[in-house]
Amino acid sequence: MSVRYQTVLLFGAPGSGKGTQGKILGNVPGFYHLSCGEVFRNLDTGSELGKVFIEYSSKGFLVPDDATVKMWHQNMHARTVLGTYKPNVDLLVLDGIPRNTSQAKLLEKHLNVLHIIHLVCRDKEDMILRLRKRALKENRVDDAKEDVIRKRWDVYEQETFPVLEYYPKAIVKEVDATGSPAKVL
Ligand code: ADP
Repeated sequence: MSVRYQTVLLFGAPGSGKGTQGKILGNVPGFYHLSCGEVFRNLDTGSELGKVFIEYSSKGFLVPDDATVKMWHQNMHARTVLGTYKPNVDLLVLDGIPRNTSQAKLLEKHLNVLHIIHLVCRDKEDMILRLRKRALKENRVDDAKEDVIRKRWDVYEQETFPVLEYYPKAIVKEVDATGSPAKVL
């Protein structure tokens, strides 16, 4: 029998701070944070899916939906079996998925989305600067080149932003993503 996870989605453009806020919130007892991008980055780069991830993410594209949702679900199941995530107790703070409406539909049977925290970026160039800085700190293929960053923004605007329309307006809360992590928090 499958459980629908009680979920809060962290939503926003690349560089908006989903991962940063997610990590902080994940430290609150009863909250469990999972970043889809992080799960991808932790894959063995020699594995079939690891190669697919590098192929797509290095160009700024999304990994195909079926493979993404399957991997995400297997990962959640593994965490449940290990007991690090407890679906009946924990609130899942999810970042990086769903990233288009097709993923939102595929996730419908797995997620009960209670709230969406939309980290709003009014200054695109400021966010791009954040990503450039991150590239220097973390060894990320998708942030290393300016044209790949810009491609990721295009993908966000065209494919990911419409996800907000998929869910009821009443559950979407907007938060200004500019300023320090503490201010955003
Ligand atoms: P950011 O936080 O900068 O938006 P992520 O760490 O969430 O970046 O994702 C990095 C890359 O991993 C994406 O550009 C994409 O290639 C891949 N990826 C992550 N999540 C998904 C997803 N839900 N569907 C498809 N691809 C994904």
